[in-house]
Amino acid sequence: MFRVSQYLRELIEPTPLKPVRKPAAPVVIWNLLRRCNLACKHCYTTSADIDFPGELTTEEIFSVMEDLRAFKVPVLILSGGEPLLHPDIFKISQRAKDMGFYLALSSNGTRITAHTIEQIAAMNYHYVGVSLDGMPATHDRFRRMQGSFDEALRGIQLCLDKGIKVGIRFTLTQDNYADFPALLQLMDDYAIDKFYLSHLNYGGRGNKNRKDDALQEMTRAAMSLLFDTAHDWLKAGKEREFVTGNNDADAVYFLHWVALHYPDQLAIMKAKLEQWGGNASGVNVANIDNLGNVHPDTFWWHYSLGNVRQRPFSEIWTDLSDPLMAGLKQQPRPLEGRCGRCYYQTICNGNTRVRAMQTTGNYWAEDPGCYLTELEIAAPEAASDT
Ligand code: SF4
Repeated sequence: MFRVSQYLRELIEPTPLKPVRKPAAPVVIWNLLRRCNLACKHCYTTSADIDFPGELTTEEIFSVMEDLRAFKVPVLILSGGEPLLHPDIFKISQRAKDMGFYLALSSNGTRITAHTIEQIAAMNYHYVGVSLDGMPATHDRFRRMQGSFDEALRGIQLCLDKGIKVGIRFTLTQDNYADFPALLQLMDDYAIDKFYLSHLNYGGRGNKNRKDDALQEMTRAAMSLLFDTAHDWLKAGKEREFVTGNNDADAVYFLHWVALHYPDQLAIMKAKLEQWGGNASGVNVANIDNLGNVHPDTFWWHYSLGNVRQRPFSEIWTDLSDPLMAGLKQQPRPLEGRCGRCYYQTICNGNTRVRAMQTTGNYWAEDPGCYLTELEIAAPEAASDT
């Protein structure tokens, strides 16, 4: 995840480069169940409104949580399916809070209602992310449910009314690119705290629908708009958070934006982005699916590293006998193609390996989701020679 606003703040009010501590354990995104009341076009879990057999029981979830805490996992992001459909969601959330996790909920928003909001507020989630795929017509078409936009927006408003930090989660594709400016306006109108722009990743229905991936020019225009908006709002004193995900080339594109707008801070920003280090799948991000399988991130459901019913998460995560995990944790990663020769590997870390895998069968091949030009991935001296 690339924290755009954090780096913009550092441009507006520069701070020196400080040493950073490496996290002891990854953030865990946990798909508690696969059931969902919607059937979205790019759903990476291919969810449906049915019970899926073999899911972890609440008791099993509690015992995995003990292991995660002992392993020093700092953050749990509860997801699904729709996590609010889990019959024990509040029991699980309460236990996680009591254990001291930073706790976030990732929801489609339709189950945040006048009926559930009191319980949601009582959980004191640190953050609730609600997916919006565009303005009403686009969102309802993507979500394949009439009225789902209104329900999601109502959920956001209920969270805002309760003082819960809430954000829009938006996956950019060719089909909803045109709605992006209006969504930013909506964020401003409703004073929504956070905007998470996700690029399309090739998992689940997102893989089947990958022909919809935003064309590179659209992606570039969307990212420029996001940087400009986040920057202008910060300068205007609007404390909003912009983050992006599933395309670590965003940080390199951002560095080129810095070269244009804050050229005197280019070198220190490059050093800060290198400290961040780009793609963190298999290192600082982990996923546990509804059946207890562990994956390097949420888009690797076709690739299990082991199951928490058989081995503790802490053991699975540190086992480097798996070739994918060994490569993901290697520095630098064994990248090939344009990622292998990219000057900015130290910032991007080769981006999203699952896109390389899904398109070539080789998870170290170049990421086809990179939208940077050859000049933009070349060393500055080489770029200025051409
Ligand atoms: S070429 Fe690869 S490593 Fe370089 S910015 Fe693009 S995705 Fe990242």
